[in-house]
Amino acid sequence: MNHAVRISPTPATTPLKDSESTRHMALREVLKFPDKRLKEISTPVGEITDEIRQLAQDMLDVMYDEPGIGLAAPQIGESIRMVVVDTDWTEDDAERNPLVLINPEIVERSGKLSWTEGCLSVPDIEADVERSESVVLRATNLENDEVVIEASQLQAVCFQHEIDHLDGVLFIDRISRLKRNLYVQRRKKQLRRELEDA
Ligand SMILES: [Zn+2]
Repeated sequence: MNHAVRISPTPATTPLKDSESTRHMALREVLKFPDKRLKEISTPVGEITDEIRQLAQDMLDVMYDEPGIGLAAPQIGESIRMVVVDTDWTEDDAERNPLVLINPEIVERSGKLSWTEGCLSVPDIEADVERSESVVLRATNLENDEVVIEASQLQAVCFQHEIDHLDGVLFIDRISRLKRNLYVQRRKKQLRRELEDA
């Protein structure tokens, strides 16, 4: 039913293909749990300004550097409704198809699945999360065109995970209380150790 619009790859001036060279750029820092800014509800993007375009580029740089398959603006401290996703890309196969999604919304869902998720903002844990198996996402791209994407499996999971970030929800908020509490304790210990070693 719908056309999926893909954002064309980033301009050649940005050395995205070469992770060696991105390492030398000033990458934005990824906020980590339990940073309170990850719990904020992000505000919609209004006009697409140069600032927004630069932020999208910064987000892509961070995502590919980490590496990750998705990143939401609040993860780098910008509480606005924008995410970047590339579920085609892996470290071995450097074919990149970045999607920049502004004010993304899920307008249809169907089915259920359980997927093992992780998150750049939630270190050292992966856990199974129940999600919709297929979704239809509506958003705006950087050219201010409406984008409608039908997604399933990994891409659908990624969309749901990233949009959760815009609502201040982390994937560990969707696992059992017991598992979450164990993780929170482990994470606190880890942070204490880091402080002691510093
Ligand atoms: Zn995440």
